[in-house]
Amino acid sequence: ASTEAAPRIQQLSTSVINKIAAGEVIERPASVVKELLENSVDALSTRIEVDIEQGGAELIRIVDDGEGIHPDDVPLAIASHATSKITGADDLFHVQTMGFRGEALASISEVSRFRLRTRQADQLAGVEMQVDGGNVSPLQPCGCPPGTQIEIRELFFNTPVRRKFLKTPATEFAHISEQFTRVALANPRLHMVLRHNNKSVYELPATDRLIDRLELFFGSQLAESLIPIERSSGELRVWGYVAQPRQSKATRKGQYLFLNGRWIQDRSLQHALTEAYRGLLMVGRQPIAYLFFEVPASQVDVNVHPTKSEVRFRDSQQMYRLLLSTLRNTFLGMDLDSPLSLRS
Ligand code: ADP
Ligand code: MG
Repeated sequence: ASTEAAPRIQQLSTSVINKIAAGEVIERPASVVKELLENSVDALSTRIEVDIEQGGAELIRIVDDGEGIHPDDVPLAIASHATSKITGADDLFHVQTMGFRGEALASISEVSRFRLRTRQADQLAGVEMQVDGGNVSPLQPCGCPPGTQIEIRELFFNTPVRRKFLKTPATEFAHISEQFTRVALANPRLHMVLRHNNKSVYELPATDRLIDRLELFFGSQLAESLIPIERSSGELRVWGYVAQPRQSKATRKGQYLFLNGRWIQDRSLQHALTEAYRGLLMVGRQPIAYLFFEVPASQVDVNVHPTKSEVRFRDSQQMYRLLLSTLRNTFLGMDLDSPLSLRS
């Protein structure tokens, strides 16, 4: 044993705690965009604009027309474990919002130069808060329309190792665009705009029809041949679109699964998709699908993973069977266009 005394236990400072939390949730600019988009959705916005510079390494700006934050609560917005979305442990099993951990803004403002402006519709003026690597400047009144505007500059400026690991602006922007796509597909009624280096990338008008949005993202050729599906069983519901077998991909990147409005990754449901297309695709090909699962909030645990992209179903077998049988029944009565043409 060493002759030196073992280190004593010390409580970490808030700043260190927030940096550790940021390490979990904020991996790259796209993680910031995901968290901010989800906040704007939770604030019942009807319009969200996102501006990115240099793949998000220089600037991420998001402007929404949502409910805004009460002026007295603005400092709390960047406090860790402070949230307007849940109040008690029971609420964890009835989460209706995208967020609930109260950690995103605390984490982001710890590792960036952060500016928030917000105004609720019934307030005469807005409030502006600036935070530099966790250091909060005195709040200022500001003129701004109802809603919230958040600007993040120089992400990871004070965690140089993380900053060094950022990929090229094009690669970082591709990740941002993917996060934007997930939120846009889950919320077609939202008018959404994405710009990179002042150039428009997506301008998505509000629509009631998911298929309109699918067409804007993936082209009319794919959209026109998509097969709609819809089925409920007890409290479970699945709906959306799947593609003809000839439009498969080499990876699962064409598979978008959403649970109660949240993009998720789920091996069991992916496997059900593979099973449904068995015999219709060439080996190594993956079907394209845009599927929305709805279950009572009490049936899912979204508190499994910090980014909430992995969730736990109370009855994942039942969901698996519902998806598989729905697809099989849909395909049975159809003239499918398969490269293998095993079925008529
Ligand atoms: P969470 O979303 O888990 O509650 P965040 O750190 O993402 O935690 O946000 C903290 C709080 O700040 C939210 O609970 C919400 O009250 C407020 N907030 C953040 N972004 C917005 C926004 N765009 N519009 C209105 N309120 C917001
Ligand atoms: Mg949030």
